[in-house]
Amino acid sequence: MSIAIALDGPAGAGKSTIARQAASKLGYIYVDTGALYRTIGLAAMRRETEPVDSPELDAMLEQIKVELTFNENGEQIVLLDGEDVSSLIRTPEVSMMASKISAVPKVRAYLLDLQRNMAKTNDVIMDGRDIGTVVLPDAQVKIFLTASPEARAGRRYKELIEKGMDVKFEDILSDVIERDYNDTHRETAPLKAAEDSVTVDTTELDFDQSVEKIISVIKEKI
Ligand code: C5P
Repeated sequence: MSIAIALDGPAGAGKSTIARQAASKLGYIYVDTGALYRTIGLAAMRRETEPVDSPELDAMLEQIKVELTFNENGEQIVLLDGEDVSSLIRTPEVSMMASKISAVPKVRAYLLDLQRNMAKTNDVIMDGRDIGTVVLPDAQVKIFLTASPEARAGRRYKELIEKGMDVKFEDILSDVIERDYNDTHRETAPLKAAEDSVTVDTTELDFDQSVEKIISVIKEKI
């Protein structure tokens, strides 16, 4: 049976970088499910479709094709109608659109099988918001990774500045707070720690310490 590690937590807790590194050390595949919601968000932006339950959104979901694949370095690539959109989905506009559109139940249902299929055939660390609660409720290890909103906004700010984007810390912080609110208050699959999860708070941990902590939680359980 394959091994599944569910890693959930709020935006900017460092889930993706930490999980990627931990997965590579453990020889597992890292699956970033936020990229899927971002891709649906990008598709809606391109079509000027509102991120709400509507016939237009239904039609869009029927027409688009979202696929997950991996390049030769084992990095996740997400395809929208065959186009590699992995970089295009990393803007603040797409982040906000993803946060809104992910509250639509049909969008969540649309992505469910794709996520589950990844875990059927591979040992995975899957990062998201509802992996331990909804997508992989039988995961052998469930981790809820969190940090203060200021620490999370600070990391996101640094990441975007390093990519050459012109952003303000205050805007990022208010985005983080707004996305937290959206993620925890939506009716379908809200962000919350699974009952059987271990909470890891990285506010005071640097990157290497966070990776070590995650690996030790995993090794304790497997
Ligand atoms: O993790 P990331 O910030 O890339 O996710 C983008 C958005 O997608 C989040 O704000 C969240 O609303 C949504 N998301 C979700 N469920 C997941 C992963 C992401 O609702 N499993």
